[in-house]
Amino acid sequence: MAARPMPYLGDLNPEQRRAVETLDGPVLMLAGAGTGKTKALTTRIVHLLNTGRARPNEVLAVTFTNKAAREMKERVARLLGQPAEGMPWLGTFHAICVKLLRRHAELAGLKSNFTILDTDDQLRLLKQLVQAANIDDKRWPARLLAGIIDQWKNRAWTPDNLPASEGSAYDGKGPALYRLYQTRLRELNAVDFGDLLLHVVTIFQRHDDVLAQYQRWFRYILVDEYQDTNVAQYLWLRLLAGGHRNICCVGDDDQSIYGWRGAEVGNILRFEKDFPGAAVIRLEQNYRSTPHILAAASGVISANQGRLGKELWTEAESGEKVRLIGHWDGEEEARWIGEEIESMQRGTRGMRPFSLDDMAILVRASHQMRAFEDRFLTIGLPYRVIGGPRFYERMEIRDAMAYFRLVVSPADDLAFERIVNTPKRGLGDKAQQKIQITARQNGVSLVEGARILLDDKGTAGKGAGELRRLIDGLARWGRMAGDAAISHIELAEMILDESGYTAMWQNDKTPEAPGRLENLKELLKALEQFENLQGFLEHVSLIMDNESDEAGEKVTLMTLHAAKGLEFPAIFLPGWEDGLFPSQRSMDEIGVRGLEEERRLAYVGITRAEEVCTISFAGNRRVYGQWQSQMPSRFIDELPPDHVEVLTPPGLYGGGYGAAATTSIETRAAEANVYNSPGWRRLQARSAERPLSQPHAARSPVIDAQAVSAHVMGERVFHQKFGYGAIIGIEGDKLEIEFDKAGTKKVVARFITGADD
Ligand code: ATP
Ligand code: MG
Repeated sequence: MAARPMPYLGDLNPEQRRAVETLDGPVLMLAGAGTGKTKALTTRIVHLLNTGRARPNEVLAVTFTNKAAREMKERVARLLGQPAEGMPWLGTFHAICVKLLRRHAELAGLKSNFTILDTDDQLRLLKQLVQAANIDDKRWPARLLAGIIDQWKNRAWTPDNLPASEGSAYDGKGPALYRLYQTRLRELNAVDFGDLLLHVVTIFQRHDDVLAQYQRWFRYILVDEYQDTNVAQYLWLRLLAGGHRNICCVGDDDQSIYGWRGAEVGNILRFEKDFPGAAVIRLEQNYRSTPHILAAASGVISANQGRLGKELWTEAESGEKVRLIGHWDGEEEARWIGEEIESMQRGTRGMRPFSLDDMAILVRASHQMRAFEDRFLTIGLPYRVIGGPRFYERMEIRDAMAYFRLVVSPADDLAFERIVNTPKRGLGDKAQQKIQITARQNGVSLVEGARILLDDKGTAGKGAGELRRLIDGLARWGRMAGDAAISHIELAEMILDESGYTAMWQNDKTPEAPGRLENLKELLKALEQFENLQGFLEHVSLIMDNESDEAGEKVTLMTLHAAKGLEFPAIFLPGWEDGLFPSQRSMDEIGVRGLEEERRLAYVGITRAEEVCTISFAGNRRVYGQWQSQMPSRFIDELPPDHVEVLTPPGLYGGGYGAAATTSIETRAAEANVYNSPGWRRLQARSAERPLSQPHAARSPVIDAQAVSAHVMGERVFHQKFGYGAIIGIEGDKLEIEFDKAGTKKVVARFITGADD
């Protein structure tokens, strides 16, 4: 049979071709971003099929995200000129393991129709076990245990091979509870996410015949983003490749960003030891980004110690420098990016026009998305969020909104159902049914039903006291909503505090809890742009309505983590401030591990950009309800100045830099000489025209700041609701006041007048 044509080989450089054509034995492609690793991997699949080396079902190809898997399937189909439907084993680790486990469920003590628990179910189950074991779940929350078990599973530790060093986990009760949990899962014929890999690895380890069958079956193994594999995934791959060793892994040690989830960058560095004689292929030509973007990315990543170090070059035209811009605050950053996106659609600053699909905003922390979502909604800019729920769809936001809805409209039964036992108030299904029945019998809302029930002493359940507090609270907050002396923001904060909702997350020791608290703070920030709760709720219901997945161009919004492997002509990287990016946690850590992982994330971010990369930071952000001035990220100092252009800040919007922002930028500029560019000099020239220290009147933060500076400790003041008192504490725009009658309270400064006014 004549060989089929192989036009696809012509699209590759010699090193890529080697990676594609070295079909026998282990191959490692270790290379920087945008050098065509994924392209070579995809072409290798095509080549295997096209040369008849393997049939579609004999190729095992693993990617990290569903999106990446979809894209790879599409690329293979395009190159082959036929649909890749016949590639059952191209997918994520999890998707592939589900299939394997269904075939061999009985070897893991399961039936093949096992269910996969989501995190909520998993948590509920763990909570039952924790309670049954008489553990104080305030001190030892089930979520913490869930996190621990997850890490164990990532390391391929079953209850049977858990190392002794883990014995003290979860107050020493971790190992026993883990065993119980696994038993319970089996009884329920269920698995959690981590089990998918763990069970399959265990089956392979215990059943040589099964392993041998798959070693024969999967004649060629390919893995993308190998630097982010965890121990369980690594073992799984090593077991499968153990016979023929036809395994091709590609990755980049500089892009290892999942260490916090148990990924081991060591896996990629150890490849040659694991697979002696491996062909190691290095790619150095970057086909994605312009030289300025590449130089900026290389500059940042070179500050990391202990990296292999790779040179990247490109033939692309030099293009735009990386653009850097500072803003007064986060809202202004969102406003500017929204407008910049619209002007880039038309073609601005001498650049070609970009479609919305060409542009993406990559954030460090998902709570940053809120400001963008709100802004885009306001100006009608279509956007999509990838790799997570939109801000207003998140659990904690929906919970908080349910409280607000109930305060504004007490007959909102759905909202009531959502929060009646969140946080836990000891109101189980039975108690809730009673409320439902009473409400129905009396033809009233659930809130009313609950009140009637309580008044009739119809419930003696342990939750009665708590339910009373909730019902009374709702009534009180409802009255306050009509009270001009209290702002809706204060009210919202009060609702979340007094209902116990904030405390619920504060007491939660799991890794997600801080993020959820951040989101709640972000929610309060969002309220500032509205007159009252009602107006805000309407705005959100509009957002939720707008959800439809209409076709058409959209800007992409996602986290840096979710952007791995992707590319866009224009990238925006907002929030480059110390404490946000790099994260506070990484800065507080002893040693550089966390910080270096953050830096790799910065490298991933910049290298997603093909033509235009815009980095921004805000001089002020609201943290815990107070304005805090932010330092530009230390990663900004690491950007090589020759490849950076500082854009003129938004004088366009009627303001200059805030004084705080300017001071910190100047400090940094002096230290790092980053701003030695025409753009920065232009900025300075502009500043001379309008002194930066003169705040613009329309800016709310400045108004707050003035209000704060207008008060001093010990000052006698008057509050419409609480009467006269004296200031005993000043925290940002909040005052702690000892009122003559009402006791000590914290109030927002602008609701205070001097006692003699
Ligand atoms: P990352 O590390 O970010 O995952 P990567 O190494 O996987 O990057 P690819 O996504 O495969 O890089 O390729 C980056 C871009 O370069 C893609 O648009 C791809 O089509 C293009 N490209 C890759 N190799 C070549 C080549 N030999 N000739 C022309 N374009 C190429
Ligand atoms: Mg890739």
